[in-house]
Parts: sequence; C-alpha cells; structure tokens
Amino acid sequence: MRFETLSVFPQVFAPYLDVSIMGRARERGILDFEAYDLRQWTHDRHNTVDDAPFGGGQGMLMKPGPLFEAVDDISSRGRSRPHVVFFSPCGVPYRQDIAERLSHRERVLLVCGRYEGMDERVFGLADETISLGDYVLTGGELAALVVIDSVVRLLPGALGDDMSARDESFSDGLLEYAQYTRPAQYRGMGVPDVLLSGDHAAVAAWRRKSAVERTALWRPDLLEGASLTEGERRFTQGLRDMGKGADDDG
Ligand code: SAH
Repeated sequence: MRFETLSVFPQVFAPYLDVSIMGRARERGILDFEAYDLRQWTHDRHNTVDDAPFGGGQGMLMKPGPLFEAVDDISSRGRSRPHVVFFSPCGVPYRQDIAERLSHRERVLLVCGRYEGMDERVFGLADETISLGDYVLTGGELAALVVIDSVVRLLPGALGDDMSARDESFSDGLLEYAQYTRPAQYRGMGVPDVLLSGDHAAVAAWRRKSAVERTALWRPDLLEGASLTEGERRFTQGLRDMGKGADDDG
C-alpha cells in the first residue's frame, strides 16, 4: 500500500516510519511512503503557503493555490489516482472501522493543515475529511502518522507471521480482554488461574467475558454496535445496573 503526505513539514514523518513495525513494513515493501513538501507548489520567492483570513481575525490560513496545484499534480502521477484525505477538527472522528476501510485502498494521500487551518474551498479536493478527536493539534502531521500506523498494522504480514490484529480492541466492537505475562505473582498480585490452566477453551471463554465486561465498564457506548449473545447482553445490563446503584449510593 502506498501512503503519501502533503504538508509543510515533510521531515517529521521519517523518524517514526523508519523504526519498528512501520520500518519493517517499509523494508518488506508492505508500506511505500513519500512525504511531499507543499512549498514545492508555490511560485514566489518566499514559498508562501499561507495568508490572512478574509473578515479579519487572528492567525493565518493555508492558501488554496498550492494545495490545489499539489493535489492535482500528485494525483496525476502514478498508475492510480490516490484516495485523498484531509485532516481537520471538523472531520469525521477517526475510528478503527475507518482504518479497516482505508487498508483496502491502494494509494492514499494525506493532506495536513497548519496555522489556523485551510481556506474552506480546498475541502472540495477531499474524498473524506478526518478528525483525530475533539481537540486541536498544531498540525495534521500527527494525525497522518496515526492513520498510517493504524492502517499499516492491519495489512497482511505487517505484524509478523504469527501475530494478528484480529483479537484487538475494536475489531469485534469490543475492547480487548485483560492480559498478563510473567511473573505469575508480582507485588502480591496474582493472575486469573484459568490463564495458567492450559485449557484453551476455558481461556477463550474467560477472554470473551473479560472483553465484554471491560467494554461495559469503560466504554458502554460501544456495546450498541457490538455483537453480543443474549446471555452477554443480560450480563452487561447487570453490570450497568450495578453501576447505577453505586452512583445512587454515592
Ligand atoms: N482553527 C482550526 C484548527 C486548525 S489546527 C479549528 O479551530 O478547527 C491546524 C491543522 O491541524 C488543521 O488544519 C488540521 O489539519 C490539523 N488538526 C488540528 N486538530 C486536528 C484534529 N483534531 N484532527 C485532525 N487534524 C487536526
């Protein structure tokens, strides 16, 4: 899969994408990456990409010219046109299902803003606009890295042959189950006996219950979209009723 970024700080991507799973994915040809410098598509001596907002107000906005020219130019290169993603706090909140969907694309161009954001007209270039969450970053580069990281680890072979992203949080609409490693006793804290039993079916059942329980306690908003058995629904309802009881008492 090919990811491209368009930003005024193309140098920030390499340190992250050169190491660990991202670095290995690049070495193995699973991830092909290129960072474009938006200033390449400016025509003045100062390589200006921003200007003051009409109507006044603080800060500067990214001008439409360089962004339009860059996206047109980049899109015309290569065999296929990229899927174009813009970043903005006004976009659709990013989630695992969006990562899943993007992982089936051949080529994705991530357009990163800076300053006070972008001239509204540029969003016409976007196939979709994504927000990382309800907070404001100084630029879209971190958002681009988050998207690349979360998508690449879904690509076949990226996590290594014996690892899989299948059981992870959100993959089935639930948070991941609790996990433990050696030592079995640490500072007076043990681990659930069933995990030491070697009984694979019992371990699987415990993990499923743990995932359902954690989701009900920490992210009840996710339960709506999760596929639960009738028994699991009753179990989560019980947990929620208990939670309400505790609130009433407190
Ligand atoms: N003035 C804008 C914020 C601009 S921040 C507003 O109030 O909405 C500058 C750039 O950082 C944005 O253009 C966007 O590309 C990026 N950015 C900031 N917060 C982001 C978020 N939550 N998700 C995705 N991108 C974000």
